[in-house]
Amino acid sequence: MNTRVIPIVDLRQAPAFGLQGDLQREQPTGLLGDALGRPLHDLRISVTDRCNFRCVYCMPKDVFDQQYNFLPHSSLLSFEEITRVARQFVAHGVHKIRLTGGEPLLRKHIERLVGMLAALRTPDGREIDLTLTTNGTLLRQKAQALKDAGLKRVTVSLDSLDDAGFRLMNDVDFPVARVLDGIDAAMAAGLGPVKVNMVVKKGVNDDQILPMARHFKGTPVILRFIEYMDVGSSNGWRMDEVLPSREVVQRIAAELPLVEVDPNYTGETAERWRYVDGGGEIGVISSVTQAFCQDCSRARLSTEGQVYTCLFGSEGHDLRAIVRGSDDDALLAGAIARLWRGRGDRYSELRSEQPARPLRKVEMSYIGG
Ligand code: SAM
Ligand code: SF4
Ligand code: SF4
Repeated sequence: MNTRVIPIVDLRQAPAFGLQGDLQREQPTGLLGDALGRPLHDLRISVTDRCNFRCVYCMPKDVFDQQYNFLPHSSLLSFEEITRVARQFVAHGVHKIRLTGGEPLLRKHIERLVGMLAALRTPDGREIDLTLTTNGTLLRQKAQALKDAGLKRVTVSLDSLDDAGFRLMNDVDFPVARVLDGIDAAMAAGLGPVKVNMVVKKGVNDDQILPMARHFKGTPVILRFIEYMDVGSSNGWRMDEVLPSREVVQRIAAELPLVEVDPNYTGETAERWRYVDGGGEIGVISSVTQAFCQDCSRARLSTEGQVYTCLFGSEGHDLRAIVRGSDDDALLAGAIARLWRGRGDRYSELRSEQPARPLRKVEMSYIGG
């Protein structure tokens, strides 16, 4: 029998790190730089660590089973607490916020949080770019309420167009047709352009690359292929299961000619390509084969208020203790400034130089993808 040993460490139990000592109050200037000179522009907020899927690359069933201790409700940041933290991030320069999880649409009354975050303004008075990533299972029910509350766009994860292949990736029985229907609902509600993210696992769903490309070609949907990443410690990641993005592009271009497009902005994670015949656009996210750490301006706020300055982090910085311990926003702003100034993360760039990867990495469902 082939037994898989999963070296899981529950990093949620690890002591919060990085904010010990006297905290300094600070008034944000909107111009914060980290130790490598990278600005703070994006914030991903995980609103729940729960999910109705068990994607093999994210929440494998043998770890996230009946015995798994999901966070109790009292540990979660409330919507008011999330908004208070987000306001300080925005004051420091964040202009893009993505809600994620776990499955963010499982958090009750999520549209209320969307409304609260949509009301935030950048220091120069602009609206923030507020988006959400979902597996699409509840989009039909929620799309209009999310739009009405102020959400700008959604990204939907979909790894296969056929039900059997979909099941191989998400390990539950859920019809692809209902995710496609959720995408339609999002477009009808005005949450476009909708992006669809497909994680490619070599030998598992790479046969779906062309069917997915054909399906979304000629629609307003932007399909993006993501290299399977070594996030967390439970998915049993192996390099030989990664299909490099350049191969994805080659496979599609052989049937549907493509030409490369300039990035929308510095630090955009996806490399963009468009169909030569005008059939729309695709993207590839090469997190493994082409690291983009040098432009990474992203912080992550976990469901219980720990800040991670890298997707591959092993230690969070506990903002919840500050939020619950004091009403002083300048103290919160000081804590964020301190941890961002100390940030030197560039895990993906170092990955190739560090074949013995550290086992202690936080799970993606906890800090949000
Ligand atoms: N549940 C929502 C969803 O699936 O869209 C939001 C959370 S999920 C963690 C965010 C994104 O991370 C999804 O697009 C998912 O495919 C991606 N993801 C999760 N684990 C991954 C891995 N090991 N490699 C690459 N992408 C991954
Ligand atoms: Fe759930 Fe999203 Fe992770 Fe899949 S990728 S298990 S849908 S959180
Ligand atoms: Fe950003 Fe860390 Fe990913 Fe590099 S490895 S791009 S620093 S999240």
